[in-house]
Amino acid sequence: MTNYNKSCPVCSGPDQLIPFQWGNYPVIHCNKCGLDYCSQMVEKERGGDSSPVHLEGIEMMANAFHKTNALAKKYTEKRLAIYESILNRKCQDVLEVGCGPGVFYKPWQSANVSWTGIDINPYWKEFGQQNQIPISNYPIDSIKDQYDVIMAYQVIEHVEDPVSFMKGIIARLKPGGIVHLELPNQNALTSKLRRISSQFSYDYGFIQPPMHLRAFRKKTICRLFKDFNLESKLVLTCGNTDKIWGQVRDYNLLQKSLYRLAGMFGLGSLLIGVAQKGDSID
Ligand SMILES: [Zn+2]
Repeated sequence: MTNYNKSCPVCSGPDQLIPFQWGNYPVIHCNKCGLDYCSQMVEKERGGDSSPVHLEGIEMMANAFHKTNALAKKYTEKRLAIYESILNRKCQDVLEVGCGPGVFYKPWQSANVSWTGIDINPYWKEFGQQNQIPISNYPIDSIKDQYDVIMAYQVIEHVEDPVSFMKGIIARLKPGGIVHLELPNQNALTSKLRRISSQFSYDYGFIQPPMHLRAFRKKTICRLFKDFNLESKLVLTCGNTDKIWGQVRDYNLLQKSLYRLAGMFGLGSLLIGVAQKGDSID
């Protein structure tokens, strides 16, 4: 097992690690790729190498499911157009890793694109059965097929080893296929406020033990794409309510205005990375 006290989980760099104490837990900042992380995972998702999603978040997503359908449809139409302009062909199938309630299933189906959703949490498989959404509970390693697009929304920040996670994704992309990551932005306004002092904030930005133990910046995502010879198509930050890249959540008006404002100043809470695999068949 890798000792993350000595090497960064993203760039493996041993030379620019800056360890420090935040309240009662140690954090490491990698100056080379900009990742903030905790070297030890306190708690893990059953059957996975990732930190858990708290119950509150699960219940919120389940409750918002019916309200967020229309939003997911809008996003899907806009994203499909962008994916196809990058693919330069029709998008036939997508894989969503860590799909939660599967709110994107119906929108993709209406767009005549085959959607496969997997989530390590068995809660969602059952939720899918109750709502006629085919959610599977197996890990990405057991998938034999390849896809035009693989998306992972709010997943990579939970993963202990982002490099092997990316390997798993890239192996399942068709030549010229696209990976789309959505994750918290460690340079967001909310994150900056939570990094002022450990007296005011238990969280170090988006390091939120035991849930999130990896916090990425734009620089980190660029580095990750580069290391895998992926062509970066888009690496940007935006507000949670962004019209194309926003999150499928049921926000109130105040939240919406705040997110829009932060997004306008480039301090939005979402970090988006879209990259393309080379055309050669490997
Ligand atoms: Zn690093």
